[in-house]
Amino acid sequence: MPEIPNINSRDAKLKEIIYDVEDFLFNENNSSKKGLEHLCVCSGGTTSSCAKDGFTTLDLRKNYNKIDLNIESNLVRIGGGVIMGDLLNHLQKHNRSFPIGLSKLPGAGYILTGGVSPLSRAYGLAIDNIESIKGFLGNGTFIYLKKNQINPEKQLIWEALKGAAPFFSIITEIELNTIQSNPIEVIEGFVNLNELSEIIKLSEEFPENISLQWIYAQKIYIYIFAELKNNFEDKRTEEYLMLLDKFPSLEKKFFENFNKINFFPKELNLYELNANNHSEVISLLGEDLKNDIPIFIKCLNEIMDNKPNNSCYIASQQLGCKTKKLNHGSSFFVHRKSTWKPWIYASWKKNDLQEKEVALEWIYKSWTKLKRFYPNIHLAQLHNHLNSHEEEIKLAFGNRMNELKTLKNIFDPQGILPPL
Ligand SMILES: Cc1cc2nc3c(=O)[nH]c(=O)nc-3n(C[C@H](O)[C@H](O)[C@H](O)COP(=O)(O)OP(=O)(O)OC[C@H]3O[C@@H](n4cnc5c(N)ncnc54)[C@H](O)[C@@H]3O)c2cc1C
Repeated sequence: MPEIPNINSRDAKLKEIIYDVEDFLFNENNSSKKGLEHLCVCSGGTTSSCAKDGFTTLDLRKNYNKIDLNIESNLVRIGGGVIMGDLLNHLQKHNRSFPIGLSKLPGAGYILTGGVSPLSRAYGLAIDNIESIKGFLGNGTFIYLKKNQINPEKQLIWEALKGAAPFFSIITEIELNTIQSNPIEVIEGFVNLNELSEIIKLSEEFPENISLQWIYAQKIYIYIFAELKNNFEDKRTEEYLMLLDKFPSLEKKFFENFNKINFFPKELNLYELNANNHSEVISLLGEDLKNDIPIFIKCLNEIMDNKPNNSCYIASQQLGCKTKKLNHGSSFFVHRKSTWKPWIYASWKKNDLQEKEVALEWIYKSWTKLKRFYPNIHLAQLHNHLNSHEEEIKLAFGNRMNELKTLKNIFDPQGILPPL
């Protein structure tokens, strides 16, 4: 049986793997196990929900992997099983780019769940760059929706597809805006906690073409990412970046384009690619820390002091500026005021249930401590197999939760897609 490329799912004892969206998926008879067994959709295959013991996986990577850039409109159409690295490679041939995240591995799940990129402060979230969407609702109805051509009864579906698509649809094609590919300057290196504190303070004043991402694993590593556009703006960028000259361990690097950057150096010893481990991650959202930076740093220190094993880390990426704007229309990424997206990661040896329990407990305890700074959730990973699922969806969809429930009831009445 072909493999699902995720270390959490590779050894899952799948019921079946299918490659096409076929009619039988939506048959009435499929409802017999309502609520217990849903279809696992796999695009990039980077989350633990793309394959599970006893479940069927719809693997979109084989038959929904086309990438087609229209060089006149600069819009690109991608299949629902395209991974972001392949998208970026294709676009780069035409000197175009897209605000992908910190890894090239995620697939369409990255776009459909919001999509926070180091370029988001300048170009919005991935969902803000969607021009049209094709796919099937959970009841088997084919949909094709195009921005600015949505009739009123489809408006809610369009908004919900941007941020909550996995709960009620299978998306086979997405049309996206692309952006001019520009050189990138990165300032990166290991820092200590005091330096991190100072750098966070500086970053909360950054203009939209600069963003900070940091990761606290066994040591702290930071990336300041600046898109270089033209001489006038670049001068201003250099003025901001000069403020970082006082941190001796930071190195300045220039990249021809976004494509050439690989985040997270080997020296961090991250466990994410360790085939003997399983893992979970919870993503949070909150606003600028401002005067709370010292308390936050203290809290972060406590959390890291209590980590149960060396796999555990906390990281954060910066959004804000364009992601706060609603000029791309309403969506189900409701926490538009957010300027930080931290995430908490832990892993454990595959079959060690006790270690799993301890690691998850650390994630939950850390989440509780971080809530005062980051009260909301970015539902980048579906956790319907975890106890935190209910709270996560409430904190992810906020006042749009009831609308999402209604859509789920109408368009996925048999519950063939992941439960809410
Ligand atoms: C190394 C790494 C770095 C990351 N960096 C970022 C980042 O910088 N910014 C950010 O926002 N997120 C980031 N993420 C999170 C990532 O974007 C989400 O976890 C995303 O959901 C992964 O999508 P996927 O297609 O790879 O996963 P999969 O496991 O294939 O899919 C996840 C779920 O999404 C749903 N889904 C996927 N495709 C479709 C489809 N075509 N139709 C309907 N439902 C679908 C399914 O329910 C599926 O189970 C990162 C993840 C990893 C592993």
